[in-house]
Amino acid sequence: MNLTSSSGFIWNWLEKAIIYPFMSILKIARMGHPVLMQKAQSVEDPTSPEIHCLVEDMVETMYDAPGVGLAAPQVHVGLRVVVFHVPRGRSDGEDGAGSVPLTVLINPVIEPIGEEMNTAFEGCLSLPGMIGKVARYTHIKYSALGLDGKPFEREASGFHARVVQHECDHLDGVLYPMRMDDLKTFGYVEDMQKEVKE
Ligand SMILES: [Zn+2]
Repeated sequence: MNLTSSSGFIWNWLEKAIIYPFMSILKIARMGHPVLMQKAQSVEDPTSPEIHCLVEDMVETMYDAPGVGLAAPQVHVGLRVVVFHVPRGRSDGEDGAGSVPLTVLINPVIEPIGEEMNTAFEGCLSLPGMIGKVARYTHIKYSALGLDGKPFEREASGFHARVVQHECDHLDGVLYPMRMDDLKTFGYVEDMQKEVKE
């Protein structure tokens, strides 16, 4: 499911509309809901229709929100499933370098590469309207199973690495405010516009 070109996007949309006419936009759990505080269970069979259906609904929900990532506990499902993408506008490099097409991670595992960390603002669909500064590893390696049940591995840096760390935290019941060093940088995005621009 590569959404990097507009024609690809349209074709993808058509394909989904024909093949998956019953996709739903799921309700997103907000901070305070117990499902966000629990450790999610591993998926036994990534190829099962139930998991494929869940992923389709998660993708639909993520794009509708809109967000760059979503973890299954955020839609009240305690399974180790993440969907994310890094759009051109959010990638680190110029000309869209560093953008990442829609990716599904099942039972993901993250390993930091080096100890370098960077701090930046994050938001979360489970804390609508809020942002806060969080330190994350700058470089990571992550592995997961795809929807075909096959393992794959990637290296990531910058925003890509941040998104993966944020989403995988959800699988262990961790929300970004729990990672914050300075709660003075936590607040409503509308009221923090000035600082965000600095
Ligand atoms: Zn989140």
